[in-house]
Amino acid sequence: MSLQEITDRIATAETAAGRSKGAVKLIAVSKVQPNERVKAVLEQGHRCFGENRVQEAAGKWPTFREDFPDVDLHLIGPLQTNKARQAMELCDAIHSVDRPKLAKTLARLAQEIGGCPDLFIQVNTGEEQQKAGILPSDADAFIKECRGLDLPVRGLMCLPPVEEEPALHFALLAKIAERNGLDGLSMGMSGDFETAIALGATHVRVGSAIFGERVKPQE
Ligand SMILES: *Cc1c(COP(=O)(O)O)cnc(C)c1O
Repeated sequence: MSLQEITDRIATAETAAGRSKGAVKLIAVSKVQPNERVKAVLEQGHRCFGENRVQEAAGKWPTFREDFPDVDLHLIGPLQTNKARQAMELCDAIHSVDRPKLAKTLARLAQEIGGCPDLFIQVNTGEEQQKAGILPSDADAFIKECRGLDLPVRGLMCLPPVEEEPALHFALLAKIAERNGLDGLSMGMSGDFETAIALGATHVRVGSAIFGERVKPQE
């Protein structure tokens, strides 16, 4: 599929859901993709990208930014506290805030750096043991804690269990966001972004449908 096809499908889904044009931001997930593929998408004018590892992002985006300074880079994968500073300096948004220790580290660094990327709190809607994210039952308290730390919380993010109906997870995420007065919903990937848009996604994270299958398997 091409970038144009995906942006067309997003526009169609926005209209079908009665959402305004441009309500949904497309994060092109470029993790483990060859640089030529990423460059081709940059040359088509797209600027918003997602990476799930700080190390990998640090290896490619400073160079791409020399030619495309207006890149909007989103970290969508788990973040270790010892990589937090690097992530904050490199990224415009972090979608994986998922525990008090990380929130406290981000708050301290935000003071030192004098700024903070937009933050999304990751919710483990499927309550999967191996997956990152705050449990749904702890989400309200954690959102409150992050706000108490003056962190710029823009919304919530989820990654539904592969074998389950994603719509149930998107609806749960939307409900938690709504009762906490949050507008941002980072949900939906290559296989389900239209469903996510119907349920209120503001950010969809689409990788393989734009770039093709990932060269190396990851997670
Ligand atoms: C890889 C990844 C995506 C994109 O997955 P595709 O199925 O290739 O669209 C989205 N979100 C997260 C958190 C990811 O790690």
